[in-house]
Amino acid sequence: MLSSIGINNIHKIARKLKENPCNIVITTHHKPDGDAMGSSLGLYHFLKKYHHHITVMPPNDGGKYLHFLPAHDEVIFFEDNPEQGKNLLEQADIIFSLDYSQLSRVNEMGDIIRTCKATKIMIDHHIDPQPFSDYQLWDEHAASTCELVYHFIETLEDTDKIDATVATCLYTGIVTDTGSFRFPATTPHLHRIVAKLMETGMKHHVVQEMLFNNSSFNRLQFLGYCLSNKLKIIPEYRTAYIVVTREELEQFNIQTGETEGLVNYALSVEGVIFAALIIDRTVKVKLSFRSIGDFPANEFAGKFFRGGGHFNAAGGESEDSIEITEKRFLNALHEYAHILCPPGKNI
Ligand code: 5GP
Ligand code: MN
Repeated sequence: MLSSIGINNIHKIARKLKENPCNIVITTHHKPDGDAMGSSLGLYHFLKKYHHHITVMPPNDGGKYLHFLPAHDEVIFFEDNPEQGKNLLEQADIIFSLDYSQLSRVNEMGDIIRTCKATKIMIDHHIDPQPFSDYQLWDEHAASTCELVYHFIETLEDTDKIDATVATCLYTGIVTDTGSFRFPATTPHLHRIVAKLMETGMKHHVVQEMLFNNSSFNRLQFLGYCLSNKLKIIPEYRTAYIVVTREELEQFNIQTGETEGLVNYALSVEGVIFAALIIDRTVKVKLSFRSIGDFPANEFAGKFFRGGGHFNAAGGESEDSIEITEKRFLNALHEYAHILCPPGKNI
């Protein structure tokens, strides 16, 4: 386990951030979600107040549903222009790694971040962090990286610099990573942070509208199709899952980010404690796992699908065909029968 930033270290970094405008690159994991984009743009708007030259650069785009975030149009995606991205990383004085703590999560950017001269600051809440950064603000119990960015700003004694723009970004990541305040990591302390964010005048209802009332017609039809035709329940294992083929993605013209949340419908079936979404992506088959209670979704993902994540929300991948991946998934469930179907517990 890595330590959180020590007090001396914080002062050193705080001095650097407060006194000298410098080149900063803020990176996130690939296919950034609401927490990755919210935390990086929140930090961007905060650090701008110190006149740094800052680039937010995730490996690629996580989806249009996050384009409403303030200054999203200034974000550069590394994979759109790797040469430019490499230059930015090599010329950076400071690189932030937000919402990831393993370099495998940033694709080809990983090797460049590992070797470049910049001071590296990792702020994250995923398990098993790698020691690639100079400073870490890491807490696996934090509900979101946005919450940790709030703490980072608090540690710099700068919460008065959190305006409605910073707050909009941080609120977005908190809402998405807590399932709108439903998941167990949602604490009274987190609600107090959210109250502070709301006091900036940030329009929380607009964020909610953009996140949850902004579906394309195709996406809703795709959702209906998946729920009617693709959702499978295995009552004896209290498991539900959805398999989506490449043809189906094309048929409904589903774009990156538009399958976000689909796995939660499988989990919402009464009595289900483990849910999976298996999608045939261009290169690999991608799996998303969600669980309720004491089923270790991250252990399951790591053991069978080279993945990982949080205890109740994890993911992995497979190089097999979608049919073989589904069979492997079903076989893997047998190994967890002791948790999935203890006597008298099937649906
Ligand atoms: P999602 O299902 O939303 O893609 O991912 C849920 C969580 O699982 C992510 O926050 C991330 O922690 C983890 N995750 C997803 N895919 C992978 C993967 O391929 N490898 C690892 N290590 N973690 C993953
Ligand atoms: Mn997160």
